[in-house]
Amino acid sequence: MSASAPTRVLVLGADAAGMSAAHQALRTARRTGRELAVTVLDKGTHTSYSACGIPYWMAGDVGSGDDLVARTADEHREAGIGLRLGVEVVAADLAARTVTTADGERVAYDELVVATGAPASVPDWALGPDGACWDGIGVVKTLDDGAAWRERFAAAGDGAHVVVVGAGYVGVEVAEAAMRHGFGVTVLTRGRGMSMLEDELAERVDLALCEAGAEVVLGVEVTGVDVVDGRVTGVQWEGGSREADLVVVAIGVRPATGFLAGSGVEMADNGALRPDPHGRVAEHLWAAGDCCEVRRRIDDTWVFRPLGTHAAKHGRALGDSLAGGTLSFDGMVDSSITRFALGEVYLEIARTGLSRRDAEAAGLDPVALLTEGTTASGYMPEAEPIAIWVMADRSSRRLLGVQVVGGHGAGKRVDAAAAVLWAGGTVDDLAWMDLAYAPPFATAWEVLQIAARRVAERL
Ligand SMILES: Cc1cc2nc3c(=O)[nH]c(=O)nc-3n(C[C@H](O)[C@H](O)[C@H](O)COP(=O)(O)OP(=O)(O)OC[C@H]3O[C@@H](n4cnc5c(N)ncnc54)[C@H](O)[C@@H]3O)c2cc1C
Repeated sequence: MSASAPTRVLVLGADAAGMSAAHQALRTARRTGRELAVTVLDKGTHTSYSACGIPYWMAGDVGSGDDLVARTADEHREAGIGLRLGVEVVAADLAARTVTTADGERVAYDELVVATGAPASVPDWALGPDGACWDGIGVVKTLDDGAAWRERFAAAGDGAHVVVVGAGYVGVEVAEAAMRHGFGVTVLTRGRGMSMLEDELAERVDLALCEAGAEVVLGVEVTGVDVVDGRVTGVQWEGGSREADLVVVAIGVRPATGFLAGSGVEMADNGALRPDPHGRVAEHLWAAGDCCEVRRRIDDTWVFRPLGTHAAKHGRALGDSLAGGTLSFDGMVDSSITRFALGEVYLEIARTGLSRRDAEAAGLDPVALLTEGTTASGYMPEAEPIAIWVMADRSSRRLLGVQVVGGHGAGKRVDAAAAVLWAGGTVDDLAWMDLAYAPPFATAWEVLQIAARRVAERL
């Protein structure tokens, strides 16, 4: 390579992490005067789309898959990125600095950015002899999956029954989507539903699903499916079975890093990479997004939290650092949020910080309380029930975690707690900080602060 040749940046994956990295690298390079030639390879057909919006598209809230695309392939190319779709990378030679595609092409790079995400896990029972899911069974991960579900929902007759396997946030959102079409829904899960929440809050989500008309079966492991002429007709588990016209598999995701096997790069047990705050994994190797673990600041631990919010931030910091900038993704405090809404039933569900189990594993001495209140002053029509769980460490008084289940306006209350957690603050900080108040939005003593104060008084 001559001294004046641009640095060849090869990005694998054209969604949140990869494209944030690619664009930020170009922006920063313009500022720092570096010359970059950025190429992005993706095995799929779409770029920069919101997978988070797919359940709402399935439900009918979003008109078209195109509405979920933030930037099309053409827009990326116009911005100066050499984008190639339908190109899967199957191997990497980090010493030679090349990757090999499924077609046998070798692509050379100077800097490699791995942003390959984490495809949905598919259990053996979902698969037919050709290795594809039986008809009527699918995952919810890509825009193509979303389109397939739209078609399946449109083709399913009145009275169709949908079994959702998995009761994490994707399972709950998809259950809502199916019920919005008038289908019967059974949600099956291995442990309890919403494992991101403490029991006393998770139970409220199960109850809301049941109240809305879903059947919720907890603590079961699917053992197989009934299939007639290649099409699913039922789901079996130990001690039970349910007829099914459609089966949604929402049991989690796994990092797409198989092509790095044998490269000597350090990975977590599930194959996740562990980049530093700038996205660096090793010399000339960078990574961000769902193919990585993220650092949780509160207990300084690596955890696998495949969320778009981390992918976009870490990707941006990576792109900046790669081009000579200093942006860094300084971890997270384990915040997440979703919603279940059907007819009269409306529940916002959110958390931030550690669970009780995390806190105990970290050797802390957690004190936690559940507090019930209302989202607005009781005399206002906006007032809806809210339950808030707050946990703090007994000796240091450090705030450790907050979880919320409640009506309109409940969920984003965790953001104030996340800010305290981010700053390493105490439960007293949360109880006494200045939060906005007027009757349509809160009670005079905001319920989040009452919940924090109650815990503070017990330390
Ligand atoms: C239904 C659903 C709802 C969600 N809701 C939320 C939410 O509300 N909030 C939130 O924060 N997050 C949410 N997420 C998670 C969020 O969508 C992901 O965290 C985000 O998409 C991760 O971006 P990424 O770029 O790391 O990976 P991906 O979006 O998975 O992109 C990886 C890309 O790499 C490509 N690729 C993979 N392997 C190869 C290879 N070997 N060669 C070439 N290309 C390859 C893939 O085709 C893909 O396009 C949701 C996800 C789903 C599925």
